[in-house]
Amino acid sequence: MGSMKKYSIGIDLGGTKILTGLVDITCGKVVYHIKKKTKKEKGAENIVRKMLSSIQELFEETKVERDEIGSIGIAAAGQIDRENGIILSAPNLDCFDLHIREILESEFEIPVHLANDVEAATLGEMKFGAGKGVDDLVCVFVGTGVGSCIVKDGKILRGATGTAGEIGHIIVDLNGRPCACGAHGCLEAYASRSAIEKRIEGALKKGRFSVISEYLEEGKSITSSMIRKSIEREDELVTHYVDEAAEYLSGGLASVINLINPKLIILGGGLIEAVDYFYKKTIKEAKLKCLPVPATKIEFRKTALGDFSGVIGAAYLA
Ligand SMILES: [Zn+2]
Repeated sequence: MGSMKKYSIGIDLGGTKILTGLVDITCGKVVYHIKKKTKKEKGAENIVRKMLSSIQELFEETKVERDEIGSIGIAAAGQIDRENGIILSAPNLDCFDLHIREILESEFEIPVHLANDVEAATLGEMKFGAGKGVDDLVCVFVGTGVGSCIVKDGKILRGATGTAGEIGHIIVDLNGRPCACGAHGCLEAYASRSAIEKRIEGALKKGRFSVISEYLEEGKSITSSMIRKSIEREDELVTHYVDEAAEYLSGGLASVINLINPKLIILGGGLIEAVDYFYKKTIKEAKLKCLPVPATKIEFRKTALGDFSGVIGAAYLA
């Protein structure tokens, strides 16, 4: 055994921001964090530069020494090669074949681990959030897409190619809407924030009325908080499409409950966090749609670590 290190650095590399945190691994607390936007400047060079400067800043601001850091963990939105520490494809960041472990290890001489964002967020929630003390659970995140991660006997289920848990691509309509993955009728095309956004935009274009128009800005997309505000004002159009999304998501969750029989489903992501109406409706319907026996044991919770679940989970990657 080497000497115990008190801290790890967790980095959540998302489509719109890089969140870097210094995590006290004795208790899971984020001691200090830095957020950098990735909206305009993407591409491997920009992403690497921002990650390096975030870590530098972290050292300067906290005065923590390099030898107090056990590891750097990265949670990346996209396809990754865990073993070799490579981000294979992250279209949201315009990054392909990025050998991120090699770059960070040679710069800081600290071991670097890589995981996908959903897996890291699940690990965070499992250790210190809504899943604390539960061994069989499924974490589902609803935002731009619908992602999930399955935990069985306290371990993350990865599958033969490390891609298990793609709830977003459960097919809910054989002749349904096209999905970004190339298939038709995937859950993600019905139950994500982007799916709701598309439906609302389509209806507005056809001249339908909605109070959401008051919040819209030219060239900007519909956010979860705009959806919340419209529902609070009992807007008929927005409520209709959110109901529709809840209808599909609850069907997807019922399938997961029947197939995996977990004790707990943790729901998170922008849409769930912002729109409580959507959360409540989804879980109520999921319980009605799944088989009666697993329905007796299933419990639902919202994520508890918010924006930091990925950073915290990444800090514990090994
Ligand atoms: Zn799909």
